[in-house]
Amino acid sequence: MQRKNFVNVKRVVIKLGTNILRNEEGEVALSRIYSFIEDISKLVKSGKEVIIVTSGAVGIGKKKLNLDSTDGDGVKQACAAVGQSRLMSFYENGFGVYDIPIAQILLTEDDFSLRHRYLSLRNTLNKLLSMGVVPIINQNDTVSTIEVHDILAGIQVCFSDNDKLSALVSSELDADLLILLTDIEGLYTADPKTNPDAKLIKEVTSVTDEILALGTGASSGGRGGMKTKLEAAKLVNRFGGRVLIANGKRQSVISKIFEGEEIGTMFSSDSERLSDKKRWIGYATNIIGKIVVNKITQDAILNKGKSLLPIGIEEVVNDFKQGEVVSICDSNYTEFARGMVNYNSDECRKIAGEHSDNIVKILGYKNYDAVITRDNITDLI
Ligand code: GLU
Repeated sequence: MQRKNFVNVKRVVIKLGTNILRNEEGEVALSRIYSFIEDISKLVKSGKEVIIVTSGAVGIGKKKLNLDSTDGDGVKQACAAVGQSRLMSFYENGFGVYDIPIAQILLTEDDFSLRHRYLSLRNTLNKLLSMGVVPIINQNDTVSTIEVHDILAGIQVCFSDNDKLSALVSSELDADLLILLTDIEGLYTADPKTNPDAKLIKEVTSVTDEILALGTGASSGGRGGMKTKLEAAKLVNRFGGRVLIANGKRQSVISKIFEGEEIGTMFSSDSERLSDKKRWIGYATNIIGKIVVNKITQDAILNKGKSLLPIGIEEVVNDFKQGEVVSICDSNYTEFARGMVNYNSDECRKIAGEHSDNIVKILGYKNYDAVITRDNITDLI
């Protein structure tokens, strides 16, 4: 999609990072927030559907509570609770001026990972958009268990920062464009803070390993960084959506983007659009179980569009129930696909390496020949 065609975008997710919602002193960047609201209101009045993913709750809460750090048991969660309502008061006031209703939606990993919650969330967001409401989403830091690392050991959670959250929302809502606003111009060939030769990359057509390697860690204050933004771009590109990373500190940046100005780094893709269920399987669930398969099975899944049969299973890692999504890995434990299993982990262990004809003899019943049916597999490559 050419940038001048942004005018045709119908549904856009805009993610506002912590460092552009605060000024240098760590105070709320009031004029910038109101400028975003003014620009977004214009988009809404022109008939576009806009979903905001906002960060800033923890940072604003920390300032309000006069804390130097958010370290310590429950401190970040407490700051988020204080900051979130303050943050929403700015959005409420700003959008109120333009008579645009807003809605607050706070989400945790389970709201994506549990299919019935995912579908209910999608339904509600679609309803809000059809009513002309701007949904404003943030991670529910106050109850999220992501920070409790020991409980989550071994689980790959579907998101732990707002970059990935905004990618999941874009995927769930089939958005035409995701805009990640941050405090640098976009993706550079090297770190522009330390390398004067670093050049802005204007266009990325495939988020390859080389591109991912350009990502650095979190910027101060936020949980994400260029690394999580690139992962978000890869996810969105994978389902056929587009992503723009741009500098939220530029004056009227949102309006300029929609006027077709060449701002930031654009990630486009010509991937075929994955079905909703395949997107959910591939990206939206928390993963605990792993099925390790042999080379022949890996090839059959990735290149021949086959189901995962028990005969190809080398190892089953962790426990899982029938219907859960698991990681499908090669013998080096590198994940190459995900799928929803027809058998639980104990059953998978019993039938591993066996021909499907032997399933009845081993288990006493057989519901499926395949451990994971093709329709329930999403390739991650
Ligand atoms: N949810 C966090 C907040 O509102 C931000 C998380 C992130 O920066 O990714 O402060």
